[in-house]
Amino acid sequence: MQATRIGDFEVHRISEFEGPFIAPEVFFPEYDPEVLRANPDMAGPQLIDPATGKLVFSFHSFVVKTGHHNILIDSCIGNNKERPTRPQFHQLQSPFLVDLASTGVTPEQIDYVMCTHLHWDHVGWNTRLDNGRWVPTFPNARYIMARREFEHWQAVQQRSEESPHRYAFEDSVLPVVRTGQSVLVDDNYSLEDGFFFESAPGHTPGNVVIHARSRDDRAVFLGDVLHHQFQLMQPAWSTLACTDPALSRTTRTRLVEEYAERGTRLLPGHFPSPTAGRIVRRGSAFRYVFE
Ligand SMILES: [Zn+2]
Repeated sequence: MQATRIGDFEVHRISEFEGPFIAPEVFFPEYDPEVLRANPDMAGPQLIDPATGKLVFSFHSFVVKTGHHNILIDSCIGNNKERPTRPQFHQLQSPFLVDLASTGVTPEQIDYVMCTHLHWDHVGWNTRLDNGRWVPTFPNARYIMARREFEHWQAVQQRSEESPHRYAFEDSVLPVVRTGQSVLVDDNYSLEDGFFFESAPGHTPGNVVIHARSRDDRAVFLGDVLHHQFQLMQPAWSTLACTDPALSRTTRTRLVEEYAERGTRLLPGHFPSPTAGRIVRRGSAFRYVFE
């Protein structure tokens, strides 16, 4: 498992799945195959699977050891979760906890779980199944979520909407609320260790990116502001998973330009290994350069 550094922080990625996931014309409602034909360097097997034509995705968490605290950024898919509309991940059995142990951290040693948003593939390991009940996987952690995000999915749950996110809210979010471990915060929340939230709405209503800063070094945990490198050919492409595609487009376009301008180090939520990298401008579009 690779580790990367942000100043004094040590960052490990724990992936539960990496491979072909979904066809671009399904995932991006405005997808135009001409754009890919005009950018042949984007058709490589690291980006799109030649056999199936599906986009290559990773689903992962990040463990950050700050020297003072151990922080989990997004908690991925989780084991045993009922996700009938996501057959690939329904009742998943992944070695996430073994992989966590190999970073030298036990579940008891996780101090904070920070959530970019509350979609099913970002909250799964908040909880684990114990004798038929969902209990917090990290018994000593505080789970930090944007209040705006929580209230949106709470309303979805109260309307009993048929959605994997509603299931995730019930099996992976509410149990940590019941134990008193959840902390609902404003979109500009900051944690003493050098972490702070920045509002990035659109993919979900309370979506945030998480900045990490140590010494002179910094990076941004990007969550799902970008899902796939293809969006750098056309930052306007929102996804079928975006709550508000128009706002998602505005936020993504603004942030892509800002990150390219500043050379910001990024840790996106679904880019395959080695994941960390930077956006560079190329002509009227952009590219992602892995570290
Ligand atoms: Zn996601």
